[in-house]
Amino acid sequence: MYDVDKIREDFPILKQKMRGKPLVYLDSAATSQKPYYVIDAIDRFYKEYNANIHRGIYEFSERSTEEYTESKELVKKFINARSYREIIYVRNTTEAINLVALTYGNKVIEEGDHILITEMEHHSNLVPWQLLAERKGAILDYVKVDMNSYKLDLESLEKELEKKPKIVAVTHVSNVLGTVNDIKYITKRAHEVGATVLVDGAQSVPHMKVDVRDIDCDFLAFSGHKMLGPTGIGCLYGREEILEETEPLYGGGDMIMTVEKHSHTWNELPWKFEAGTSNIEGGIGLKAAIEYLNKIGMDNIKQHERELTEYALKRLDELDYVTTFGPRDLSVRAGVISFEINGVHPHDVAQIFDSEGIAIRAGHHCAMPLVTELTRIAAVSRMSFYLYNKKEEIDRAVEAIEKTYKIFKGDDLYGRLR
Ligand code: PLP
Repeated sequence: MYDVDKIREDFPILKQKMRGKPLVYLDSAATSQKPYYVIDAIDRFYKEYNANIHRGIYEFSERSTEEYTESKELVKKFINARSYREIIYVRNTTEAINLVALTYGNKVIEEGDHILITEMEHHSNLVPWQLLAERKGAILDYVKVDMNSYKLDLESLEKELEKKPKIVAVTHVSNVLGTVNDIKYITKRAHEVGATVLVDGAQSVPHMKVDVRDIDCDFLAFSGHKMLGPTGIGCLYGREEILEETEPLYGGGDMIMTVEKHSHTWNELPWKFEAGTSNIEGGIGLKAAIEYLNKIGMDNIKQHERELTEYALKRLDELDYVTTFGPRDLSVRAGVISFEINGVHPHDVAQIFDSEGIAIRAGHHCAMPLVTELTRIAAVSRMSFYLYNKKEEIDRAVEAIEKTYKIFKGDDLYGRLR
């Protein structure tokens, strides 16, 4: 049995008050909260064996090296990579995607080539490709989003694939719509036209089992801080054959095997891509986070979030002045609900929520092209769920919506903007 109250006990911040009221945290798509298990692992590292990895021949350095390397083994298992050599640590999803664009992208993209992304990308899976296209004189194309189903338009995908893009970069789960894309199908079709596929897993890896061999992607990017880990640690999975053939971005310590005055040789994977002292604390924290997630079980987490999403959509449907965005089919819907209270600006909504002790997010959610399509003011409110949320918190959010509407009812937002 999934015992959400017991899980909540593990998260110290959930006992906090915000604005004097018990905290309701509905912003896990932005960043997740951390359990004692992760906080304590980081605390132990600094108190008991802090030392730089790889270089020291003494007990503490050996222990920190071991923990850091084990964290890569665990990430490898978590996403079913073939080897820890395929696991590169970076700061976050954004850095992972930029790393691909700046190394592999720079190598393969030439003038006139096509790069394919979708209209539902976060800026971090959009701007790096714009920059690459600008650098190389390449063409950036978009798969359309069907604004009725909030899914990717598969006809548009086929049309764009006819242009034979060299790189296809697509999000697994939309951080605005909650849409879970059929990534295995997209990868298969992209490979059939010869493209290399990068999957943005920022909103999927923390919430469901993601198996890189099953979905058969070439790159997968995700962030530790969205999956109970600390900030400043993220991961780029890359297929070994591709990484072997790709030049590193940064030079310095750790990424080399030998250095002479005018030449050097590269270290083995994955270290070739990790110049300088690593985020050791981050690796150790991420290891603890994955151990914790594994203990709860990714399928259980997915199921729990699905129940929360179903409940929230049902409660929001009862309010005729609320519009929600995203697929209604729960089998392709993650725990993200963007919504609009008719006539009320999302920032006003978030402010009332804040006064009620409820953390949500409002704005363009780093997906301006998509959110501009959704609403004329290019902003929506968003609640997002994780393993520690409960239905009572959704009830509190609904009460806050009712309060917001009472305050702003009759406020002609769009009229004011005209
Ligand atoms: N991709 C998606 C779908 C996201 O939701 C986010 C963050 O919200 C990112 C990428 C960027 O993640 P980070 O800021 O950790 O790099």
